[in-house]
Amino acid sequence: MGARLFKPLSQKPNHDETPIDPTPRLTYKQPRINQPVSPSLPPHHAPTTQFCSQTEALLGKPYVAIKHMFKIMKELGRGSFGVTYLCVENATGREYACKFIPKEKLRESDFIRREVMILEHVSEQHNVVEFKGAYEDRKNVYLVMELCRGGELFDRIVDRGCYPEREAATIMRQIVSAVHGCHFMGVMHRDLKPENFLFVSKDHSAKLKLSDFGFSVFIEEGKVYTEMVGNAYYVAPEVLKQNYGKEIDVWSAGVILYILLSGQPPFWADNEKGIFDEILGGVIDMVSEPWPSISHAAKDLVRKMLTSDPKKRITAAEALEHPWLKEGGEASDKSPDSAVLIRMKRFRAMNQMKKIALKVIAESLPEEEKNGLKQMFNNMDTDRSGTITLEELKSGLSRLGSQLSESKVKQLMYAADIDKNGTIDYIEFIAATMNLHKMKKVENLLKAFQYFDKDDNGYITRDELRQAITEHQMGDENAIDEAFNYVDSDKDGKITYDEFMTMMINDDND
Ligand code: ADP
Ligand code: MG
Repeated sequence: MGARLFKPLSQKPNHDETPIDPTPRLTYKQPRINQPVSPSLPPHHAPTTQFCSQTEALLGKPYVAIKHMFKIMKELGRGSFGVTYLCVENATGREYACKFIPKEKLRESDFIRREVMILEHVSEQHNVVEFKGAYEDRKNVYLVMELCRGGELFDRIVDRGCYPEREAATIMRQIVSAVHGCHFMGVMHRDLKPENFLFVSKDHSAKLKLSDFGFSVFIEEGKVYTEMVGNAYYVAPEVLKQNYGKEIDVWSAGVILYILLSGQPPFWADNEKGIFDEILGGVIDMVSEPWPSISHAAKDLVRKMLTSDPKKRITAAEALEHPWLKEGGEASDKSPDSAVLIRMKRFRAMNQMKKIALKVIAESLPEEEKNGLKQMFNNMDTDRSGTITLEELKSGLSRLGSQLSESKVKQLMYAADIDKNGTIDYIEFIAATMNLHKMKKVENLLKAFQYFDKDDNGYITRDELRQAITEHQMGDENAIDEAFNYVDSDKDGKITYDEFMTMMINDDND
């Protein structure tokens, strides 16, 4: 069955003959764009002088002995950067996936920091792999994430050949939803392909998750991207022209859709240059088998996603509204919460002290850490006024797939509107939607603690908390007492750094 994937389109259209697969599976996975600027390059293409020194600490935190934290079990898969293993957390017995990235393979330390920052940022978005943490020792960086037990979409396609439309739509809906989530959060993936979509379980109807943010970047407004990255089969024409933006992800997703429906890639040749020529030529065969039996709606979506001009290409948000995806993709199912909604709900449930701490952290985040958050804010603040109104929040959340009642949105709004002026400003938005990884960073916790500890004597008194809560108009005496007594667990009238940290780190004590 897998052979059909490799049938060259240029050899059509004798449909009766069994396609001969001249290309082993690995070749299908292999083609990558060979451009020196690409972070995707296998190490032998990269200038050796730029490799990271093995002892360089990349993540800005102490080395760990990974074996003390996790038992490393079998190999799950490998890509261009590293090998991913199943691992078991010693402390909890929980299973995770751990990607080993040898430092000697990294051309620039910034790439790994960026991958970690992006993983933290998009984690919790549905159809995106959940991130647990990043660690390093002298030799490797380790990315620990949720274990997807169902393997790659790639392997299922090879097994199946092609999918019936309904199933293809169910899969595609999740792919497009992942892309939409990333774009909304200000991230462009740049390497969408079936190898990077993983099923959470072996189940027939298992949920699909996007992984591998090794090529991803935070989208900067107005920036023209020129780096040639990605996989030859899925690469958009404008990447080859070195002038592109986030629309490239929709193209790559369109290529996956074409493969799901027909079992073969839309642009094929036996070498990279040939594939690029096909892509730039922009001719898409939807005449040969099995296209005559595929619905008009499906073909319409393929055409819209594989539109050569990125300006005319359908967006991820529009694609989710396309009748074929809506119909086939169980639109009636309640869609899962977006990361934005999950975080806003969590923020709402927090005690006043934690909310203020998050605002302090938000205010002091370095520019680099605000990457993505600015885009997210702009995507909500549709009139670009610098504040998010109730209407904007409501429509923003609904664009992310959550139809909330007016009163639910009001509750979220009220919680996030820390200064209670009726709208959410940029800092309030960051505070309410910041990912937990950022919040739990030691330097951020320290900053927040020091904010409350006005006299800098190492603990927070009731008076100091009162001062902070009153400053932010976040509650009356009752609220102050409630927060103080809650955090001051040993009831000695002082909140120590340890008590403060416990409150901040513990997720279910709000
Ligand atoms: P690379 O950047 O080297 O391509 P990936 O993150 O794509 O690395 O991981 C390589 C392979 O490891 C994936 O294609 C997949 O087969 C497997 N893998 C990665 N992450 C997970 C995960 N969370 N659960 C299960 N398998 C995974
Ligand atoms: Mg990969």
